[in-house]
Amino acid sequence: MTQKDYMNQGEQYILKTYNRFPVVFEKGEGVYLYDVDHKKYLDFGAGIAVFALGYGNQAYNNALKDQIDKLIHTSNLYYNIPAVEAAKKIVEASKMEKVFFTNSGTEAIEGALKVARKYAYNKDNSKDYEFIAMNHSFHGRSQGALSVTGNAHYQDGFVPEQFRAVFAEYNNLEDVVSKITDKTCGIICEVVQGEGGIYPADPEFLEGLRKVCDEKDILLIFDEVQCGMGRCGSMFAHDLYGVKPDVLAVAKALGCGVPVGAFVVNKKADGALVPGDHGTTYGGNPLACAAVNAVFDQFEELKIPEHAREIGSYLFEKLEELKDSYDFITAHRGIALMQGLEFAPEKPVGEIVKKALEKGLILISAGNNVIRFVPPLVIEKEHVDEMIEILKERFE
Ligand code: PLP
Repeated sequence: MTQKDYMNQGEQYILKTYNRFPVVFEKGEGVYLYDVDHKKYLDFGAGIAVFALGYGNQAYNNALKDQIDKLIHTSNLYYNIPAVEAAKKIVEASKMEKVFFTNSGTEAIEGALKVARKYAYNKDNSKDYEFIAMNHSFHGRSQGALSVTGNAHYQDGFVPEQFRAVFAEYNNLEDVVSKITDKTCGIICEVVQGEGGIYPADPEFLEGLRKVCDEKDILLIFDEVQCGMGRCGSMFAHDLYGVKPDVLAVAKALGCGVPVGAFVVNKKADGALVPGDHGTTYGGNPLACAAVNAVFDQFEELKIPEHAREIGSYLFEKLEELKDSYDFITAHRGIALMQGLEFAPEKPVGEIVKKALEKGLILISAGNNVIRFVPPLVIEKEHVDEMIEILKERFE
């Protein structure tokens, strides 16, 4: 079949909730993807901030192959070795208490929200709780995750007003504090907003949230589904701030392409959920957890967070130069290998992303006319240079 045939069949059989780009990828190598016509693409999207290790990491691939031959699934009615090992690794890396494995970032958020509700319920048996979430946030597409996603575009038609969180301005502590009531059971925010347009949290904001949550005994939830797992130059983005959440949600690079997420609780939140309160058939299965273990092992061996920091500084320099050279680039934000360039309205990023793809460069847009740069964490300076050259050509 030709590339066109696959696309036609995709349109025929896959529910149309995406406007897909006209390409069918077949294989990957390092930081490059290849389509079915063998055209090569430099990947600065990593499957939306997922494939941290790049394509074809042999240690990772072999760990999965070995696990497939041993055991793929048993259920959470029993223990399995990869899950125990992976949970230990996450607990040690996060210095938190316990892990619940999920199949996606959305489910990690769902679980985190349930922890906060149950924690509050255990105190007063009230059934009426609300969350404070941030404008322009993104936490996923299920009903619960959408209820705290601060973007009407995603909520309208799906989440009735009464089920929505109370929304506050990101990085505006006063606004958050003014919205706390007796009903508030949790405050949720991304440490770096991703879909919203790459906005890192201000240190004072996170410190202030921690303080007010402690004072009022409200659980603080950090969503690190996109910004966690080395992308910001430390294992978790909140490590850079020295502020700990009560519940942490991670996914994406946690399994580097094998669908797995997790929510992690600290001592205070541990015990809020008891047997019967939450569950999943697949979450934490041996195959998914073998991926998590291989990711942690490779992160350590290849010093991935340190590498992300180093190449991230180089990317920062290069994007800053780009911003200074073109008037239509109006802002540059981000940390390490999670950066964004904002463009003036007369330069729609959709067009730039489309043209870049034609020239063999994968980019992803975000928020309000922003290109986000979330490459595999194994990229090198030469790949940054290659990306900048292609991007500049697209500006002419
Ligand atoms: N939270 C954040 C910050 C995200 O960026 C995403 C996905 O992009 C999600 C949650 C949802 O994760 P998933 O798509 O794995 O369900």
